[in-house]
Amino acid sequence: MPKRIKLKVKNIPLNDSIFLLKELKSNECACGSYKKEGNSFCYKCYSGLPDDMQKALYQRFGNGYEMAYDDAIGWLKVWEWG
Ligand SMILES: [Zn+2]
Repeated sequence: MPKRIKLKVKNIPLNDSIFLLKELKSNECACGSYKKEGNSFCYKCYSGLPDDMQKALYQRFGNGYEMAYDDAIGWLKVWEWG
């Protein structure tokens, strides 16, 4: 598993909690695959994330979740979707 890296490119409106809430409630992963409602990502994307990032997604809205989601998207873009 590659080491976690910090990305500079971010094009998802991270401070938009409504957007994130919609993402969470939808059944389409950011990669376009089916995901379970209430999960941040589909199984494939989620399982591709490093452990610490998976755990970070259990944080609450307004209390780290947004940042965790942002990190996960950045990571997935490079290692899963790239
Ligand atoms: Zn996915």
